[in-house]
Amino acid sequence: MIENIPDNLKKIKICDLSAAANCNFKCKMCFFWRPQKNDGQTMSISDWKKLILQLEEFFGPDLLINISGPGEVLLLKGIEELLLAAGRKFRVSINSNGYVIDDTAAKIITDNIESISISLDGVSARTHDYIRGMPGSYSAAVLAIERLRKKSKTLIITVSTVILDYNLDEVIDLVNWIERSEVNGIIFQAVSLPNNIAYDPMWFKNEFKCLWPQDTEKVRTVMDKLIEYKSQGSKIVNPVKQLECFKEYFLNPQLHIKKLRCEVDNVLKIGSCGDIKICDFSQPIGNVKISPLKEILASELAQEERLKAYECKSPCHLLVNCFHDNGGE
Ligand code: SF4
Ligand code: SF4
Repeated sequence: MIENIPDNLKKIKICDLSAAANCNFKCKMCFFWRPQKNDGQTMSISDWKKLILQLEEFFGPDLLINISGPGEVLLLKGIEELLLAAGRKFRVSINSNGYVIDDTAAKIITDNIESISISLDGVSARTHDYIRGMPGSYSAAVLAIERLRKKSKTLIITVSTVILDYNLDEVIDLVNWIERSEVNGIIFQAVSLPNNIAYDPMWFKNEFKCLWPQDTEKVRTVMDKLIEYKSQGSKIVNPVKQLECFKEYFLNPQLHIKKLRCEVDNVLKIGSCGDIKICDFSQPIGNVKISPLKEILASELAQEERLKAYECKSPCHLLVNCFHDNGGE
């Protein structure tokens, strides 16, 4: 591990590698399945492996590596090699829609990673398949969970659920299902500005109004029930504070967002082309295919971008789902 690591980088505990670049789903709240604007060539498996060595040198083995989109990570050619390389050095987690987890993929996963989060947005195939734009996606996700659990009792399996208008009626039943299942936990996200669309701070009133929970009474009831479940020790992973945040956000999105601050200290994000950005909507501070990680993170541009993010007052809906290090309760 590199000595004299700058103070502001010592808090980084998670590194998100956006390794996947394609998706087989057509989700209603994510448009990574549309052709994406890439300013450069995507990272090869060999580029990611080189980066893993730099991450080990820079941060030591305590970093959690999360391998995710834009897209479905298990569709990435060479994913087995990447999981193997990352799993040798770090604890590794992945996010997946579960669709391609057959017995072979389940073995690769259970042999190399610590945790997997599988998307599940309802207790019925009708709701989940509709939200995910993919017939059969509900049964595939449930089957993937069964396969993984059969192969490993120790793999941490969570379900990741986006709360939006379409599934508000199924959220509580889903938690009840998780309680009875062999899944370790459920992580909720509140629907926010969809991925891979033009920035629109009023998205929830404009083109994507249909995603936004409209019935405020129902929002109150569901969120209060989730808070009660969490307080009683259910398998909900989100802290009570975050669930309260979701409730406030759904009831008053503009006012609520202004109270939060961007968590630039906790997470390092590397994009599919190797770009590092402090803020998702600003310029990259460098590219790991061109410059050493140490140089990029210690640069003046990186410091300027960090300061901008600290002071950012944008009504940015990405904030509501960032609760990386606030401690559970
Ligand atoms: S949410 Fe996941 S599965 Fe759905 S389109 Fe986006 S990357 Fe694909
Ligand atoms: S809160 Fe500001 S700095 Fe953070 S991602 Fe949103 S726009 Fe960027």
